[in-house]
Amino acid sequence: MLDHTTDNLINQLLAAVGPAGLVTATADQAAYTTDWLGKWHGRVPVVVRPANTTETAAIVRICHATHTPIVTQGGNTGMSGGATPDSSGAQVIVSTTRMNQIRAVDAINNTLTVDAGVILARAQEAARDVQRFFPLSLGAEGSCTVGGNLATNAGGIAVLRYGNMRDLVLGLEVVLPDGRIWNGLRGLRKDNTGYDLRSLFVGSEGTLGIITGAVLKLFAQPSARTTAWVTAPSLEQLVTLLSVLRSRCGERLTAFEMMSQDSLDLVLKHVTETRAPTTGHSAFNALIELSDTEDSGLQEMLENELSNAMKDGLIDDAVMTSSQAQVAALWKLREGVSQAQVRAGAVVKHDVALPISALAAFAAQAGVAVLAATTAAGTTGRIINFGHLGDGNLHYNVLLPADLSSAAIHGHTLLINRVVHDLVLDFNGSISAEHGIGQLRREELRRYKSPLEMELMLRIKRAFDPNHIMNPGKLL
Ligand SMILES: Cc1cc2nc3c(=O)[nH]c(=O)nc-3n(C[C@H](O)[C@H](O)[C@H](O)COP(=O)(O)OP(=O)(O)OC[C@H]3O[C@@H](n4cnc5c(N)ncnc54)[C@H](O)[C@@H]3O)c2cc1C
Repeated sequence: MLDHTTDNLINQLLAAVGPAGLVTATADQAAYTTDWLGKWHGRVPVVVRPANTTETAAIVRICHATHTPIVTQGGNTGMSGGATPDSSGAQVIVSTTRMNQIRAVDAINNTLTVDAGVILARAQEAARDVQRFFPLSLGAEGSCTVGGNLATNAGGIAVLRYGNMRDLVLGLEVVLPDGRIWNGLRGLRKDNTGYDLRSLFVGSEGTLGIITGAVLKLFAQPSARTTAWVTAPSLEQLVTLLSVLRSRCGERLTAFEMMSQDSLDLVLKHVTETRAPTTGHSAFNALIELSDTEDSGLQEMLENELSNAMKDGLIDDAVMTSSQAQVAALWKLREGVSQAQVRAGAVVKHDVALPISALAAFAAQAGVAVLAATTAAGTTGRIINFGHLGDGNLHYNVLLPADLSSAAIHGHTLLINRVVHDLVLDFNGSISAEHGIGQLRREELRRYKSPLEMELMLRIKRAFDPNHIMNPGKLL
């Protein structure tokens, strides 16, 4: 039953966006109030779906006047619970998915201007339509939005060559917490006119305002590509191979994705139509990709490098392919890990970043520390270590036994998180490489950021959002 105040709020929102922009039935709200992992569940009186920036601004003005907290949501594929409301029933979700227009493509300026609710795969397609390339690519690209990618500073599989979302955006349009619209939609590579406001919104996870539009950078289309799967006896050897390929192939090296054998086994078991690319059984695997605007002996180059790597004992085996079907099959293995983990049971997750030179030492020490911690707690854990090795980003996860109670899973998760993240701090790394803080890592942030960094971030938050209506309970 809605009370008078909630009723009044819904009526004001209805006047702002019309009936097509409101979702009020609890059953219809379910897809918005639970996250992709099914881990967080919230409750809202209403989901508001504005069709454009003007409607978004009207919604925010109403929420500002009524002190109603807003949870902005794009494709709802985030991994940290950032887009899920709390269970109070006092927050509203603003979903950007109706804001899905490609606003402009400028092939000469190499820019694409989009609404924030445009699905990432559609932005990639719009670039392809003018023989250009938008490089952000990740497993959720069929459902995540450009706004969500910006708000989480998403990474994905091409960061090694093109950088993450912060590197791929030139301008933003944002509805501020008081309902004013900041038009920063500039397609400029150079703009030294003061503080970089755009960068503040990237990675802000909906806590500073609602991103409604963006100018994205485009690149030349890589029309030639060659892909290899290699197996290696240790992570150290893979890191050395990465360093060799970077120096020998330069910018042609576009992906270097690592999967431990345990991660691969999990995919082979839980994801249909997958098979191991090689017959041996090494401890680590990597998916390597070179690309270029034209085929200037890419395959030969990779073949030579891998053959030398084999002679030097860096890798045990390698298969190379340029066939589209085989390339897709290899990527399916790498991209299948998220899904395989969901099916496998309780997984303690980490999304850590480390200096690349420290990856192998970190993994070795973390393995010992996790084993000691789980043994002391009377359980076991299987390390599922995979990630974007070329960016120093490990998803250093731990699969728990299947028969644990949820209380035990919770307890072990806190324990293992502490062990892994304390070690990350020792190596001067980060506890969130690409998934953001959301509600998942909010408490931990205070432990791993310095008091000064926390103070500066809180001051920025207060300056933008003094009423604290933008995604409260997330990030800070
Ligand atoms: C299968 C799978 C694979 C993934 N792989 C990767 C990967 O390789 N690399 C990676 O970085 N991430 C990965 N992710 C997680 C990634 O963060 C999201 O997929 C994506 O970037 C989030 O976009 P979204 O539109 O779904 O945002 P949501 O989940 O809806 O929201 C995420 C956060 O952004 C905020 N937000 C959303 N839209 C806006 C907006 N317009 N303005 C302000 N704030 C907003 C929300 O409040 C929330 O805090 C993966 C997720 C899945 C499910």
